[in-house]
Amino acid sequence: MGDTEVDGSDRLTLDVSELFYSLQGEGSRTGDPSMFVRLQGCSAKHACYESGVRCDTEFESGKSTTVEALAAKLEALQPDTPERRCQWIVWTGGEPLDQLTIPHLKFFQDAGYLNAVETSGLHALEGRPFHHVTVSPKVAEHVLEKNFPGGGVTELKYVRHAGQEIPRPKVAAKHYYLQPHSDGMEINRANLRHCIRLCLENPPWSLSVQNHKVWRVL
Ligand code: SF4
Repeated sequence: MGDTEVDGSDRLTLDVSELFYSLQGEGSRTGDPSMFVRLQGCSAKHACYESGVRCDTEFESGKSTTVEALAAKLEALQPDTPERRCQWIVWTGGEPLDQLTIPHLKFFQDAGYLNAVETSGLHALEGRPFHHVTVSPKVAEHVLEKNFPGGGVTELKYVRHAGQEIPRPKVAAKHYYLQPHSDGMEINRANLRHCIRLCLENPPWSLSVQNHKVWRVL
């Protein structure tokens, strides 16, 4: 994955599962038009399953593509009016930090995009230049502390089941969210009620809901 030799020359590539243009449904950028790029593979899946999170994302299939070809596909998704461009790319997965490197991000930055990432917290940022970092932890707190000692996190977003306690993170973030674990495309009402109660009892935690499932968009 990542930098690969293609046709005898070093080319930047990524293994991409899915690409679509939609509205961000979660967190502090809710409602923002965004290009979503789902990268193949997830090195956090074992930690995730052990923590009781049921993954509803298909991230196993994917196709290797050069960054130039990916940029052309994103361009084709842009609105017809050139003055109204979507600026945001949301790198998601799987675990996008398994693949994304500084050169990948600089390529898309130079093409005029702002890079946002949704990560499990398994990997440190290591200088990767993101404009928005969402950590939805699927790893132990000591791993988060090790990976984000100086902050750099825009939002921490914990997925909760009914009955789970309020998280006690030591990582600094601009926003702290609790998000109810969904049942596939349905918002689970018991989990939602639990998250609402936890937020009311524990400011500054705020509620994040997977609005794209309410809106019935991708
Ligand atoms: S980290 Fe995300 S993509 Fe990976 S297994 Fe967990 S929920 Fe699925």
